[in-house]
Amino acid sequence: MEDVKQILSELIELQKVDVIILNLESEKRELEAKIIENQKQIENNRLEFENKKKKLDDTRKKRNMLELEIKAKEQDIKKKEEQTSMIKTNEAYKVLQEEILAIKKDIQILEEKIIAIMEEEEEINKWLKEQEKIVKQEEERINNIISDYKKHILEKENLINQENIKREEMAKKVNKNWYERYEKIRKNKGGIALAPIEIQGKDNAICGGCKMTVRAQAVIDVKKCKEIIACENCARIWYIEDKV
Ligand SMILES: [Zn+2]
Repeated sequence: MEDVKQILSELIELQKVDVIILNLESEKRELEAKIIENQKQIENNRLEFENKKKKLDDTRKKRNMLELEIKAKEQDIKKKEEQTSMIKTNEAYKVLQEEILAIKKDIQILEEKIIAIMEEEEEINKWLKEQEKIVKQEEERINNIISDYKKHILEKENLINQENIKREEMAKKVNKNWYERYEKIRKNKGGIALAPIEIQGKDNAICGGCKMTVRAQAVIDVKKCKEIIACENCARIWYIEDKV
């Protein structure tokens, strides 16, 4: 029978590597999240630009419609002016002249609207010209950051692979039953299967995994390496860290 101390120290060594892998994987996830964040920024910049372009299209359409309206009104005036020559009474002449004047006023209002729209168009055009450059530069800058993150992810992946190879070798040497138990706890407990007993005072010790109080007898047993004991609360296997 393998001795408890031996099994426990092998599991502790295994956990050290598992913690390294756990940290590397979390760092990798952080980098991946940063890439997504940056890609979103590029998307947003593009969207803002496209929206402005669309707005420019809308103002152009609006301007075209107003121009058509003016043309129609000019046709109206032309028709009414042609009617003038056929008019017999002063009264009718006056009414017609007033109608023409009213249409001319309408045209003036429409022309003012067109001028306002053209000013708006000019502003949007100016913005687009400036932003086209800025958006491009910004995209380049962000893409450089992204490819930097990708490089770091590759580095992390290489390190994870190396640690996994190391881990495989170590796992082969650990007592099979205890390795299986370790794996089961590890998978259920967020990647950490062993917990140190934290001695906080003379008669006070807690489980480093769940912070529950550890019985004095259990502390003694773990210290003496009499048997392998797991926390009743969080199921993690207890060990006591050697103070050097
Ligand atoms: Zn516990």
